[in-house]
Amino acid sequence: MDSLKERILRDGRALNEDVLLVDSFINHQVDPSLMADIGEEFARLVKGMSITRVVTIESSGIAPAQMTALKLGVPMVILKKSASRTLTEGIAQTEVFSFTKNAAYQLTLKTRFIKPGDRVLLIDDFLANGEAAMGASRLIEGQGAQVTAIGIVIEKSFQPGRRMLEDKGYTVLSLARVAAMSEGHMEFID
Ligand code: 5GP
Repeated sequence: MDSLKERILRDGRALNEDVLLVDSFINHQVDPSLMADIGEEFARLVKGMSITRVVTIESSGIAPAQMTALKLGVPMVILKKSASRTLTEGIAQTEVFSFTKNAAYQLTLKTRFIKPGDRVLLIDDFLANGEAAMGASRLIEGQGAQVTAIGIVIEKSFQPGRRMLEDKGYTVLSLARVAAMSEGHMEFID
């Protein structure tokens, strides 16, 4: 997706060779018009896959997932990063190791929001080691639903996430694939 790559080049900042900061347009300040374009692109890529639900992980996946769900005309479900006083009953949890926080958290789903037979498009902002996507897939499949595709806004292709997910049979659809980066330098895979 050229407009996304151009935006990463213009406003993204590689903190080092592993972590990309996109907080001025994706995950702190959000550009709604870019999110609408991302939603349209994901909807185009999954055309014909009969998606019944878009699932994402709070909080940075919500904006792109919401625009995709709107375009597909299906509900969006947000997986929470912890239980709370309002999220105690009818839940399923799985442990995920966070790439950015360098600590584990309990990814949490209220089970009634994913149905057996659902064909899920799972969306996240980044793919690094694949821990978040794997955890989300465990919760989705635990409800008897299928992860039909995994949509990633920015894939860091030099990290092992994509290969791991593909080895497990998942279809990974990434809008921008970063081959390598460092301060002031960014290379994409076409
Ligand atoms: P994974 O679970 O694939 O190792 O990492 C994916 C998760 O970590 C995403 O949900 C995302 O929020 C976060 N993440 C991974 N790499 C980056 C990065 O380079 N920049 C930012 N801002 N978040 C990242």
